[in-house]
Amino acid sequence: RSLYLENDAPGFRATLRELDDAALAEHAADGNVVVRISHSTLNFKDGLAITNRSPVVRKWPMVPGIDGAGIVESSEDPRWKAGDAVILNGWGVGETHWGCLAQKARLKGDWLVRLPEGLSAAQAMAIGTAGYTAMLCAMALEREGVRPEQGEVLVTGAAGGVGSVAISILAARGFKVVASTGRLEEADYLKSLGAADIVDRKTLSEPGKPLQRERWAGVVDAVGSHTLANACAQTRYRGTVAACGLAQGMDFPSSVAPFILRGVRLIGVDSVMCPRAERETAWANLARELDRDRLAAISTTIGLADAIAAAGEVLAGKVRGRLVVDVDR
Ligand code: NAP
Repeated sequence: RSLYLENDAPGFRATLRELDDAALAEHAADGNVVVRISHSTLNFKDGLAITNRSPVVRKWPMVPGIDGAGIVESSEDPRWKAGDAVILNGWGVGETHWGCLAQKARLKGDWLVRLPEGLSAAQAMAIGTAGYTAMLCAMALEREGVRPEQGEVLVTGAAGGVGSVAISILAARGFKVVASTGRLEEADYLKSLGAADIVDRKTLSEPGKPLQRERWAGVVDAVGSHTLANACAQTRYRGTVAACGLAQGMDFPSSVAPFILRGVRLIGVDSVMCPRAERETAWANLARELDRDRLAAISTTIGLADAIAAAGEVLAGKVRGRLVVDVDR
């Protein structure tokens, strides 16, 4: 069973399909490890792919799903053997290579990360690309020397996947986290994850001055556009902004003022092609640091067939935290 995206003469279609191993072998021919997927997830990018809202999918037909966790069934790669528990995030899977919103995927051994001890496949997908990206952002702030004693950190898109995990990680690392959200009704949820304070995202999403009152020692931004510009304008002298998302927009209507007058550092974070060593560090950190109760509070599990309708909800910003997809359900 698999989600299946087609885009030909009758137009774009997302359906649930039974496919056979021959189809997988044909359409994922460059894969050398067959993984029996047990769990996948719906990220913002999966939402875009499943609704065809933006050109995420580069090859048709496509099985979507940029994340998967499961057990190796067979392998032509000597590093992996049947029975190994693995995670897949990114590398163009679900975009140019058949993905993990399916019971089976044929993937490259180079792309796989071993499921860390103490983490289940379902928990790994509750984290997913969104959570692993949140950790890459936290690692970027750490690398740039942002420390809890320097002041507050801002997390934008707070009630979404990246935001929810970023709050949990940063609060556990001792930061005073301020969560920016358009869903003020989720204040209790965000506080339960560790947010010390909440700001209405409207205060960040409109055009603002190039330099504003210095507030943030660090920022994790999943939103882009004016929100990222205002976040930079409010970042303290020599603070760091980790930019990973574009939920508000791809644009960046800013000026150089924060960078040349306050030495603010803007660090781009990409999860898709991130080198293997950094991924492994991120996953080890997640397994060690993420509170399992908070992870459970962040995530909701749905079945494979539910994923088609849920894709629209993700894009509408209606999903709280993370959606795990049990592909056997
Ligand atoms: P998500 O769960 O849909 O969360 C996005 C959040 O952004 C929403 O929950 C909402 O938070 C906020 N938001 C939505 N529309 C907005 C708007 N018009 N203006 C301001 N805020 C808005 O998505 P996600 O999986 O966390 O991903 C977040 C972003 O990061 C996406 O753009 C995604 O493409 C990107 N991303 C990038 C990478 C990478 O490798 N660089 C990896 C993963 C994700 P509130 O309701 O709290 O306001």
